[in-house]
Amino acid sequence: MTERQAVILGAGMAGMACARILSRRGIDALLVAPPSDVASRGETLSFRAGPYLETLGWHGLLDAETALVNQGSYSVWGNRALRRGMFHQEEMSGWHIDRYRLEARMAETLEADGVDRVFCEARQFSRSETGIAVELADGSPVNTRLLVDCSGRSAVTAGPAVTLRRLDKLVACYSVFTLDEDVEAIPVTLVEAVAIGWWYTSLLPGSRMLVGLFTDSDLLPAGFRKNAGLWADLASQTTAISPRLSSLGMDLAAAPELHFAAASALDPLAANGLATALWSGIQAAESVVGLLTQNDGTKAVQYQQQFLQGIASHLAVQTAMYASEHRFTDAPFWQRRRGPWLEN
Ligand SMILES: Cc1cc2nc3c(=O)[nH]c(=O)nc-3n(C[C@H](O)[C@H](O)[C@H](O)COP(=O)(O)OP(=O)(O)OC[C@H]3O[C@@H](n4cnc5c(N)ncnc54)[C@H](O)[C@@H]3O)c2cc1C
Repeated sequence: MTERQAVILGAGMAGMACARILSRRGIDALLVAPPSDVASRGETLSFRAGPYLETLGWHGLLDAETALVNQGSYSVWGNRALRRGMFHQEEMSGWHIDRYRLEARMAETLEADGVDRVFCEARQFSRSETGIAVELADGSPVNTRLLVDCSGRSAVTAGPAVTLRRLDKLVACYSVFTLDEDVEAIPVTLVEAVAIGWWYTSLLPGSRMLVGLFTDSDLLPAGFRKNAGLWADLASQTTAISPRLSSLGMDLAAAPELHFAAASALDPLAANGLATALWSGIQAAESVVGLLTQNDGTKAVQYQQQFLQGIASHLAVQTAMYASEHRFTDAPFWQRRRGPWLEN
């Protein structure tokens, strides 16, 4: 059986951030993660990610191939008017990123760092005399002093000891369009509330645009997953999204392949997921360093407290955002989001 000081599960931004710090601190860590299954899609990386990217030496990865500077956000939320900004809150600045490309570039830096990675899933976990025994999908066993679960919403180590609580069934149904060469689109975020959920568009590097509907999986109209026409019909009924797409010469009826993705642990509406993942990976790594090199759990306890506070404040912001939409009072999507989220 292979022996490691630490095993990190998952190579999303949290897992890669954790691996980067541990490798710099000389910890013998193994990154266990299948190849990325993220389609080349656009997400908004909050300005809050800036300092974490600096810490990780990754700021330079935000270039013309991976990111566009967000020039503002607009929303149709609360009433039918289009307005600048979102939810009466601070301007959502940051970057429009191609998450697949950015994560691929991060993975390259880990390779250059010499981070050890196996490209498969971890399947089973059990206590061992010296730590935790992990069984990989290829059947090989690894024993580790500490295990860092960065598997995101999958939360693969949740089991009898930790209860997994799903707060929503949010799913993204999205398509990525390629714009004509002569079209100059301004990189802004546009969000529009509708009875079934909300629409989101963002520009990607390489003259592409992501158009997505976020709703609950059980609210999708019958046949929706197999019929992109239904998706296009809903999009064409929007107040601001549809005219913007038409102005950019995009034909919704000719949508390229429709993708479905279960949304993440943090509702993407707040666009905090990626920045939080980077923060969390760094904090987890510092906790591991404290425990392994000084037998000191102070950092780990602090991280746990900050993490729980972060979840509480995220849910408060999320509730306020949804509460600022006063229409659709009879629609299940909106009724479910009135909170409180963590009642019992
Ligand atoms: C459609 C969509 C749009 C979004 N838009 C935004 C946005 O605009 N802005 C924003 O900030 N956030 C957005 N998010 C959220 C953001 O993508 C997540 O918060 C972020 O990716 C979380 O990072 P992570 O590293 O914690 O987890 P993930 O990125 O989910 O990575 C988890 C990794 O764990 C791996 N894994 C799973 N099981 C195992 C196992 N058994 N063994 C080993 N590895 C395993 C997976 O393969 C995966 O690579 C969006 C999410 C979705 C789905």
